[in-house]
Amino acid sequence: MKCKILNTEINPFMTFGKMPIANGFLTKENFDSEFFFNLDVGFSEKISLFQLNDHPTPEQMFNKNYPFYTGSSQFMKSHFASYADSVKKYLKTDSKLIEIGSNDGTFLKNFINSNINSIGFEPSENTALEAKKKGVKTINSFFSQKNIFELKDFLDNTDLICGANVICHIPDLTDTIKAVDELLSKKGVFIFEEPYLGSMFKKTSYDQIYDEHIFIFSATSIQKIFNIFDFELIDLIPQITHGGSMRYVLARKKQRDVNSIVKKILNDEKKMNLDNLQSCINFKKNCEISKNNLKEKIKYLKFKGKKICGYAATSKSTTVLNYCKIGAESIEFICDTTKEKIGKYSPGMHIPIVS
Ligand code: SAM
Repeated sequence: MKCKILNTEINPFMTFGKMPIANGFLTKENFDSEFFFNLDVGFSEKISLFQLNDHPTPEQMFNKNYPFYTGSSQFMKSHFASYADSVKKYLKTDSKLIEIGSNDGTFLKNFINSNINSIGFEPSENTALEAKKKGVKTINSFFSQKNIFELKDFLDNTDLICGANVICHIPDLTDTIKAVDELLSKKGVFIFEEPYLGSMFKKTSYDQIYDEHIFIFSATSIQKIFNIFDFELIDLIPQITHGGSMRYVLARKKQRDVNSIVKKILNDEKKMNLDNLQSCINFKKNCEISKNNLKEKIKYLKFKGKKICGYAATSKSTTVLNYCKIGAESIEFICDTTKEKIGKYSPGMHIPIVS
């Protein structure tokens, strides 16, 4: 599936090579039919947006076997409890609240014993079921213009729409923003937090790049994109989650005060060249250096007769292992606690996953 956003031109600048589905943990019988695509990345200077050139379809990634549950991490549970607390200032008694990508209900659970009328959109059936078990109202479908119409009471009447680690997963950003526009009340607020381009470049954390992360946003790209739809950034709150994320707070233009941090972060991003291709070219060089260092280190440890194993079979490690071509000859096994992964093999490089 080719990326297309707002008909802007993408400058491809780097490839990570042939890549499987990042969360596609598989059994031996499925090795021969494993799906691969080219993980190439590009940058659109017009909207300062870092993006994949190609990616699997959303249905290939988010289905009844999606192996990620927010609530499996105690840290993320408390992160979402404080996220929920911090957004209460945008809600009134009886306000309507929607979460996009509500997964197992970890965030919305914080609102079920209140007057807030909340509901989540979650396409992955297994995680949507977990949310329903917690008593979280959930629509088991993708958030999109065509799927919001059963929520008649929420149209033009929703005070808050939230998301986390999901907006960067949605290929048709235009459709998402139009759906948000149709739902939000006049003073309504749209808040989402996603992996941050500034942190990824600073840390050379290229493992942020995989099929699900179609875009890696910056404040500059978000400001430019939402400006087209008459929204503006009113606040920015850096987060330590997922190796460095940014929480974006948006409202219709001139409806709310703008925090001075917005101007500051936009200026900082200019200094870091996050608005142009130069930062991408530097990042590419840093990725190649990092790859060579890692391969050398593993070669050295093997030469010394050491055994190497992996700690947690994450989707992010799929990019590292496949880009650096590190397989079972180097890493004997990877430990993980997720029942859907144990007994299977890592995507592409086929390292065994054990409990
Ligand atoms: N928000 C949770 C968190 O931060 O832990 C879950 C993040 S998980 C990486 C992404 C979630 O978004 C998955 O549960 C996936 O099924 C869901 N998702 C993907 N595309 C979506 C879409 N178009 N609309 C709503 N949810 C979507």
